[in-house]
Amino acid sequence: MNKAIPQLESVLTCPVCGHTKRETMPTDTCQFFYECERCKTVLRPKAGDCCVFCSYGSLRCPSMQARGRCRGCSD
Ligand SMILES: [Zn+2]
Repeated sequence: MNKAIPQLESVLTCPVCGHTKRETMPTDTCQFFYECERCKTVLRPKAGDCCVFCSYGSLRCPSMQARGRCRGCSD
């Protein structure tokens, strides 16, 4: 029951072919690129999102879960 620990597994859904894949999110960096294993499209975050998990995953990335902002973002 420790709410401080973010979920690290997210299911990415490819917007091109609809392929889904469970991936473990890195905690120390933002993953900006992700290649769909089925259609080989390289996904990039949508405008305003820090990483592919925030845009296409079932969960937002760990730093967004914990702090509401992305570790890699400069602001
Ligand atoms: Zn795809």
